[in-house]
Amino acid sequence: MSEQKLNIILMGPPGAGKGTQSELIVSKFGIKHLSTGDMFREAISKQTPLGLEAKSYISKGLLVPDSVTINLVKDSLANDECANGYLLDGFPRTIVQADALDELTKKIQRPIFKVINIQADEKILIERIVSRRICPNCGASYNLKSKKPLVDGECDLCHSKLVQRADDTEASFKTRLDAYHQQTQPLIDYYQKKGLLVNVDGLQEIDKVFNDICKGLGR
Ligand code: ADP
Ligand code: ADP
Ligand code: ZN
Repeated sequence: MSEQKLNIILMGPPGAGKGTQSELIVSKFGIKHLSTGDMFREAISKQTPLGLEAKSYISKGLLVPDSVTINLVKDSLANDECANGYLLDGFPRTIVQADALDELTKKIQRPIFKVINIQADEKILIERIVSRRICPNCGASYNLKSKKPLVDGECDLCHSKLVQRADDTEASFKTRLDAYHQQTQPLIDYYQKKGLLVNVDGLQEIDKVFNDICKGLGR
């Protein structure tokens, strides 16, 4: 039998390192990166109807409604680009989304291989969030303290000017963390019961976290 496709879910609280590890994973394994946060931010910057709707939730630190988010992922996941494997970064975030994903992956025969849960202490999360800078063009994540770009204020990959996310404030972070505890954390149990969960210590250096993820994937 051929090796199972790397169809991966990356979970973790805001600031745990999902975006950072996603970049490393997709570049090593050549699978498709699907970040619902990036997709929403792109729609917001283009001022599409989806963007306008999403913005009203994201700016308050709330989750975008399930129906909207599920539709967004549905089309992408069935796409040819995901045929060799996919990495879901920031989806699912609710049980309803996880059930919808379960149904979809069965239907399109692209079953989930592993769910990587990046664990991180809450005290460190707020520090990471307020010093995070992102590339609005390619989505790359930087940090003023722990992951500086090569040139100040500029993306290493595409040289765009780095920005701070509008929702990376202390106030919004508190709401996002509440949403995480109430709506997303139950998924840890959900995937544990399915035997798919791999916990990784996200407080280590970026390379060490990545190393543990690769070990967890058995690759
Ligand atoms: P973070 O990096 O803080 O984990 P993301 O970039 O993944 O955040 O997402 C940014 C925001 O987009 C979230 O706070 C939420 O409002 C919205 N969002 C992203 N993914 C989802 C999802 N699966 N369900 C609902 N809302 C989402
Ligand atoms: P998420 O997508 O889970 O919200 P990010 O990958 O954007 O998280 O990381 C949040 C911030 O923390 C970014 O500024 C990033 O550069 C930084 N960061 C990510 N992983 C680590 C790590 N292991 N150690 C220190 N800083 C990190
Ligand atoms: Zn860039």
